[in-house]
Amino acid sequence: MRAINFIAGHGAPAASGDEYERRNPADEREVVGKHPRSGPADVTAAIEAAESALPGWTAFGGPRRAAVLHAAATLLEAEVHEAAVEIVLEEGKTLAEAHAEVMRTIVVLRHFAERGRSLGGTTAQSEEIGTTIYTRHRPVGIVACITPWNFPLALPAWKAVPAIGFGNTVVLKPAQLAPAPAIRLARVLHEAGLPPGVLNVVIGSGSDVGDALVDDTRIAAVSFTGSNSVGQALARRIEGRGARFQAELGGQSPAIVLDDADPVHAARLIAESAFGSAGQRCTATRRVIVEAGIYEAVASHLQSIAARLEVGPGMDDGVSVPPMITSSERDTVLVEIDRAEADGAELLVGGIAMNGRLAHGGFMSPTLLGGVTPEMHIAREEVFGPVCSLLKASGLDQAIEMANDVRYGLSASIMTRDLGSVIQFVERVDAGMIHVNRPTIGGDPHMPFGGVKDSGSSHREWGEAAAGFFTEQQTVYVRA
Ligand code: NAP
Ligand code: MG
Repeated sequence: MRAINFIAGHGAPAASGDEYERRNPADEREVVGKHPRSGPADVTAAIEAAESALPGWTAFGGPRRAAVLHAAATLLEAEVHEAAVEIVLEEGKTLAEAHAEVMRTIVVLRHFAERGRSLGGTTAQSEEIGTTIYTRHRPVGIVACITPWNFPLALPAWKAVPAIGFGNTVVLKPAQLAPAPAIRLARVLHEAGLPPGVLNVVIGSGSDVGDALVDDTRIAAVSFTGSNSVGQALARRIEGRGARFQAELGGQSPAIVLDDADPVHAARLIAESAFGSAGQRCTATRRVIVEAGIYEAVASHLQSIAARLEVGPGMDDGVSVPPMITSSERDTVLVEIDRAEADGAELLVGGIAMNGRLAHGGFMSPTLLGGVTPEMHIAREEVFGPVCSLLKASGLDQAIEMANDVRYGLSASIMTRDLGSVIQFVERVDAGMIHVNRPTIGGDPHMPFGGVKDSGSSHREWGEAAAGFFTEQQTVYVRA
């Protein structure tokens, strides 16, 4: 794969001509992509293209914009397999997970096509006789989107598609570790009739491309998904210059299992959200907080599932736990497991790098830690890999207290048949997304997505929240 920047409707190498190599997460001896190492000059060209395209795209109108997004969805439908393989090669997830990501991207294109088409406001009578009031939404302007590598097609779509669907123009900076799917998104949109300059993609590092992008005063809004450290640095950079800022950051999502739950079913749901995509999902279950009476049963079922899960390359049949994004990221996770053991946690299963035919990728065995307590580092910070901690709680109150005892608040789940406990949990848990008898992962594009506390900013993504972030309202008073 050779991804190139996409600026003003054309593929373009970096102005400097520099490139870097991306290696296969399943076998780092293999180069899977050569991509441009862009810099501030490329960012300037992209912002200029977005600026020239803005008036025409705003005037294009919702129905015609919707037609472009639907046509792009149809084109992507014709290349689902190809797009999924591309995701596997760069990001590493399993083919089934990558396939689901492409299908989700198609839903996002179709949803925001319709939502942009029907963008309306409210109308009201005025206090003043003879005057009618209505609200209208107009695009905010040029939007910068900065995305992480873990959903390399869906995340660029979650941001760029509503932004352009509501009439803005965009400069997107995908993560260097998996930029090719973002270029595919730009290509299908252009083949579908997107005018040049409406969506520009610049590939390069956060420090070279990301900083130049957010520092440009022509950028009206920045939508960022990634780590807390980068998100907080960006918030400080943007502060004071009036640009909107939306951030989706890290998580430490808990799943509470109460005594009345079915331990087999609970263990299955938890394993899916803790170890799928090698645990590299912001909403992955990191802490399983189990009521004392069912703790041993949940621990033993989870242990036996984790021990049986097949670790291997994302392209292989039957694999449930793919490689992590790089072997060096894997190594940082192994260090955290050692630290948890030193802190007193018990390694129940996993905790090792794979060898043999898997020795050249970012593979590790799915890991379960028992006897974890809330003050341990593993229970407080985000460890972005297939690692799950078991904590014991005396009852619902203590379980909720433990769930809330972290700086994050992205997603949380409870497993129980007791309605009263569900209501207590929903009212008291610090989480932007709450699941009942479900894994902590997943979400529908027509509903708001985001976290509380340090997991996000006050602006949610998706659903109606997307219309709020990517448009500004005007209130119009009309007298005949
Ligand atoms: P990351 O290191 O924060 O990077 C995210 C993006 O920011 C990348 O494109 C990165 O570029 C860029 N960046 C880095 N430094 C920058 C700077 N100084 N200025 C502007 N941009 C900069 O995150 P990641 O490692 O890719 O992804 C993992 C993290 O994302 C985890 O913490 C996970 O929880 C979080 N995440 C959150 C959600 C959510 O919805 N809450 C969803 C998915 C992931 P380069 O890496 O290319 O240099
Ligand atoms: Mg990173």
